[in-house]
Amino acid sequence: MRVLKFGGTSVADAAAMERLVAIVGTRTGPRTVVVSALASVTDRLLGIGELALRDRAAARAGLDALVARHLEVASALGGNGAAAVEPMLRGIARGAERTVDTIADTRAVTAPLLDKLVAAGELWSSRLVAAFLAEAGLRAQWIDARHVVRTDGHHRQAAPDLEATEEAVRRHVRPALALERIVVTGGFIGSGPDGATTTLGRGGSDYSAAILGASLLADEIEIWTDVDGVYSADPRFVPDARVLPAISYEDAEILATFGAKVLHPKTIEPAAALDIPVRVLNSRRPSQPGTRIDNAGSTGGAAVAARGSVTLVQVTARGRRPDRGFAARALQALADAHVGMLVGEVYKGKLTVAVDHSVDVETLRARVADFADLETREGLSAVCVVGDRLARDPRLVTQAFAALGPRHVHLVGRPGGATSALAVVVEDRDVQDLLARLHEACAGGTPVAHEAVA
Ligand code: ADP
Ligand code: ASP
Ligand code: MG
Repeated sequence: MRVLKFGGTSVADAAAMERLVAIVGTRTGPRTVVVSALASVTDRLLGIGELALRDRAAARAGLDALVARHLEVASALGGNGAAAVEPMLRGIARGAERTVDTIADTRAVTAPLLDKLVAAGELWSSRLVAAFLAEAGLRAQWIDARHVVRTDGHHRQAAPDLEATEEAVRRHVRPALALERIVVTGGFIGSGPDGATTTLGRGGSDYSAAILGASLLADEIEIWTDVDGVYSADPRFVPDARVLPAISYEDAEILATFGAKVLHPKTIEPAAALDIPVRVLNSRRPSQPGTRIDNAGSTGGAAVAARGSVTLVQVTARGRRPDRGFAARALQALADAHVGMLVGEVYKGKLTVAVDHSVDVETLRARVADFADLETREGLSAVCVVGDRLARDPRLVTQAFAALGPRHVHLVGRPGGATSALAVVVEDRDVQDLLARLHEACAGGTPVAHEAVA
């Protein structure tokens, strides 16, 4: 059993659809295909949601343009393929129009309405993919992901309800696979306990693939994207980045958490829990070996990643002698406020953590109010080096520090206590340069000499 996930650029147009069909056709045995919305469609739909508040006609025109784009892709289908899929695409659009009208009528663009609206992207793309597979003679069965990926109902950032999802997979997906159908479904979307559409967070189709892979006890999860695999740095920003043949679950998760967009960070956990290998592959160059992520995976080197929108939170115990339980209380307050920590440190009466900017600081402040003060600093970035080379070769840590040079570093730490990772919180303006330097020092060619750091 294999799950194949195709990202937005891997389903962007008819040519991409043909490549997808060829890839799925080279695989044998039971297959489940999970697809993202066509490239940029989710962004457009979110824009349309906002636009609906101000200008209903413009929002509807935006939807019409999206329908036209999907019909254009469908027009490449031979026979009556296009005619057969068109009513489905238009039906999805009608649902989106109703949501636009609700936003315009109520003058409120709520999270449940946005979830409903953006779901059109994955519904359209998955219908198209099923049609292209069927046209190629592959027996495909489209399944509405909202019937299968069951969640806690938290809009725009839902967590899967794995038990309910497994049950839904048993009811809807397994019977289709037993009939030797290739199951096709949309990533990113699901539904909450009340049946309302929810989404798993931006980039969440990877996570959908992992959730379905785990529910189906897949042998492998393939993430088909627009680059040759997981690189030692984002190849868009670090031109001499190299493809990593393999990487461990833990390192891949850290890299993704620190901004390597190639994989949604939550993808790893469901796969790692069942030891299901994840392979990252290029849909434009399917003969490339890609990157294998598993328990044994060793980067054989190191990789770097960076993310913006980081807030530093400092919790300081009140009074001269902090109570011995300060760290435990402060950490408990973070957990109670559902604050996900990127990296942090504690020393006596002071806890400093780097968190995502979306954290509700006031809730956190209220939770520590009776024993500590809380200060924040926003608009920072975090840069991370990760890889087994870092754990094996202590010189690399020295080189990493040398690469930091005279920049202002707000926090240094080992995410998750991993000896294979080192993270720093820095000013936004330093990120690009630092990324290149850290890559050169730890993941690339020659080490950076102390005096070479300007
Ligand atoms: P998809 O639509 O297939 O999900 P994404 O755009 O979400 O694709 O992710 C692929 C992109 O991730 C690449 O184009 C690349 O620019 C970016 N990326 C960031 N860090 C890395 C990395 N370490 N290795 C590979 N790609 C990376
Ligand atoms: N289409 C969604 C997004 O753009 C999910 C994904 O691409 O993984 O965020
Ligand atoms: Mg993605």
